[in-house]
Amino acid sequence: MKTQEKRRGAKTIEQMFASQAINSSHDNPFGMARVVVVGGGVIGCAIAERLTLDRHEVTLLERDQLGCRASGAAAGELSPHSEAAGGTLESAVRSLEMFPELVARIEKDSGVRVEYHLQQALQPALNEKEAAKLRASGGRWLDAQECRSVEPSLTPDVLGAVLRQEAHITPPRFVRALARAAAARGAEVREGTPATGFMVADGEARRVMTPGGAIDADWFVIAAGPWTREVAMGAGINVEVRPQRGQLALLNPGATSLTRTVFWSSGYLVPKPDGTIVAGSTEEDSGFDDRPTVAGIAKLLNFAWRVVPGLGSATLERTWAGLRPVTPDGEPIVGPVAGIANLIVATGHHRKGILLAPIAAATVAAAIK
Ligand SMILES: Cc1cc2nc3c(=O)[nH]c(=O)nc-3n(C[C@H](O)[C@H](O)[C@H](O)COP(=O)(O)OP(=O)(O)OC[C@H]3O[C@@H](n4cnc5c(N)ncnc54)[C@H](O)[C@@H]3O)c2cc1C
Repeated sequence: MKTQEKRRGAKTIEQMFASQAINSSHDNPFGMARVVVVGGGVIGCAIAERLTLDRHEVTLLERDQLGCRASGAAAGELSPHSEAAGGTLESAVRSLEMFPELVARIEKDSGVRVEYHLQQALQPALNEKEAAKLRASGGRWLDAQECRSVEPSLTPDVLGAVLRQEAHITPPRFVRALARAAAARGAEVREGTPATGFMVADGEARRVMTPGGAIDADWFVIAAGPWTREVAMGAGINVEVRPQRGQLALLNPGATSLTRTVFWSSGYLVPKPDGTIVAGSTEEDSGFDDRPTVAGIAKLLNFAWRVVPGLGSATLERTWAGLRPVTPDGEPIVGPVAGIANLIVATGHHRKGILLAPIAAATVAAAIK
């Protein structure tokens, strides 16, 4: 029932690309519109940045601070193959291909370096069953000896691994660069400004309410992560999205080194440019509680120690957690909602929101043209 509501209410990324010509009474001869984007995470900021390219007049509302939630907490892996959840492989690969151009544009316009770089990733197998599955999954297969020669700190229990070329970015910088680039092209970015409701009349949203007053616009985009449900309720729309907690630990590896990202079922170890290693990540239903826990961090540390035994002597620098926006079927919701012609929702990017931000932004831009 709830999934039906979602399917009825908004289009998937693939559907949007299949029908990019969306007519709207808000079209004008110059193709410009006034757009309010609610939510200053990576999705809202990427949308704002993309819309300013089309010369739309954009106002971005962030309740707290830009990137203060999952988007600032994320590890920064741009890995289409790593986990099943968070959109299709095709859309993830397409979004990854959009990064070089996007990064060049926002670094130039914002003056912020986002530390984007290509990075190899290894997915090791510990038993024959895993090995058979991974060999069939694409990428280059390395046997046990090759594995240890490219990544000597891996446990000797590894039977082999798939090696893939992926990429990495620093999420808080990415969010900041997107917002600054949008602002440099005229967007108004308002932090500390929550959307508290909408005025809807005759099947159209007319204005969004904030504590500082109402804002009129032609289009409204709700990209408030797991809070999208609460925000959309303000327009009488039900969006099936919930929070899922993911915890992370930052390790200082001392003498142990890792040069490639290592994936392991739902876990990963990500070497950062400064030599530290991020160990992630849990998947938990904790409501809107985004504090790390003893059990969650213990699980991550055990995993890290098992895969790279030398990390037993690493020091624990920091722990933190974020709330991923998750839909019932794990697919993002990006597109206009049923019943309100000029209201768009963009959420549910689960474990791949950083990776999928460019394609989400392009999808929304296609709807507003
Ligand atoms: C531990 C962890 C690791 C991750 N690692 C990766 C990774 O390596 N690669 C990857 O691609 N993805 C990763 N992800 C997933 C990614 O972080 C998310 O999918 C993505 O950040 C979601 O972005 P968002 O903009 O939809 O939501 P959010 O980041 O939650 O942003 C929503 C924003 O809306 C604001 N807001 C809420 N209510 C209102 C309101 N009423 N008015 C105005 N603003 C409002 C919030 O304050 C928030 O800033 C990870 C997630 C976690 C938790």
